[in-house]
Amino acid sequence: MNMDHLQVGSFQAMKLLNQSTVLNLIRQSGPISRSELAKLTKLTPATMTNIVGELLDSRLVIESDLGQSSGGRKPIMLKLNGSSFCVIGVYAGSRRINAIAAALDGRICAETELQAPAAPGRSEFLAGLRRAIDEVMRKLPTQRRVLGIGVGMHGLVDPQQGRSIYAPHLNLRDIPVKADLQGRYSLPVEVENDVRALSLGESWYGQGQGIANFICVNSGTGVGAGIILDHKLYHGTSFTAGEMGHSTIDLEGPLCSCGNYGCLEAFVGSPAVVRRFKDRVQSGAASSLGKEEQQLDHLTVEMIQLAAAKGDSVAAGVLHETGRYLGAGIANLVNTLNPSRIIVSGGVAGRSSHVFDTLRQEARRRALTASAAAVSIVQSGLGANANAIGAFTLILQKLFEGNIVELAKR
Ligand SMILES: [Zn+2]
Repeated sequence: MNMDHLQVGSFQAMKLLNQSTVLNLIRQSGPISRSELAKLTKLTPATMTNIVGELLDSRLVIESDLGQSSGGRKPIMLKLNGSSFCVIGVYAGSRRINAIAAALDGRICAETELQAPAAPGRSEFLAGLRRAIDEVMRKLPTQRRVLGIGVGMHGLVDPQQGRSIYAPHLNLRDIPVKADLQGRYSLPVEVENDVRALSLGESWYGQGQGIANFICVNSGTGVGAGIILDHKLYHGTSFTAGEMGHSTIDLEGPLCSCGNYGCLEAFVGSPAVVRRFKDRVQSGAASSLGKEEQQLDHLTVEMIQLAAAKGDSVAAGVLHETGRYLGAGIANLVNTLNPSRIIVSGGVAGRSSHVFDTLRQEARRRALTASAAAVSIVQSGLGANANAIGAFTLILQKLFEGNIVELAKR
């Protein structure tokens, strides 16, 4: 619940809550009739008429085609207005910044991708975000009003303050993302850890729809998880829930970027995968890659995946091993939280069948009971924009449970 709710009177709070409930039902089940809405919410017809009237006034909702009737007059159906408003989602990765604008119904109406500044300072990093936002705003179809901006970024994020506490891959601390963007655009801004935002995106538009307990596991440069419990994003006491990359899997293991030894990330983060492959080639394993010294210097996980797909057994072996480590990490999550689904994404596991198939087997093998092992483990279907979709879901969710009607009327 945000602070605005707490400061208004209880009548106002109740009105907001009812509005939000109706708006979310229209989002999830629209086109839907007033009478169906009344049935689902148990609100009185008079209250429903008021709420729908306000939603129509604000143009967030429009009347659509007539619905089916079981005799008598066909009901007027309501759905979200997919063409007047939009929100912007920005994914600030360590190598690229991806910004997309989406309508209230989640349809993407503009997108852009920029290279992220290398080794940026705080102000360069923020300037990069603004550049991406400016560019996607320029690409918007005319007549679209932007209602808010969501930002997803790696590392530790305080979503209440909208600050990045620590972004290890940029080596930056304490970035006031929300304050900076609100100052520049005068719009509501939400900031969240990228994988947590992604799990909201999966919950609204992806493989997590309708699922109460699921976990998104993203493995790329780093490894993180977004945990949805009882349909809600779980943050933890100080916003570090889901940092599975820093769970210890080997007490004597290699040094991790966080300063501990033997973290999962030190085995399966993309730099670790590349390093293990190099070690093997340099100690004499025969691979199609790395025949020239130079090639090893520019090696990426994508190159290893490609070589494995073409039958390179050293590459396949390293990926298989990566899948086993990740599978063990996922089994730890499954045994701790007992979700019904795990959604896997990211450059290491999301796109490689070598890694994905192995991690699925390994996680199931290590699950405690047959019913825990029945957890469905799937790859994300949200595609290259997944993180930015998560970021705009973040702001949509906030608006849909808050004062979006007031905002739209302005
Ligand atoms: Zn670590």
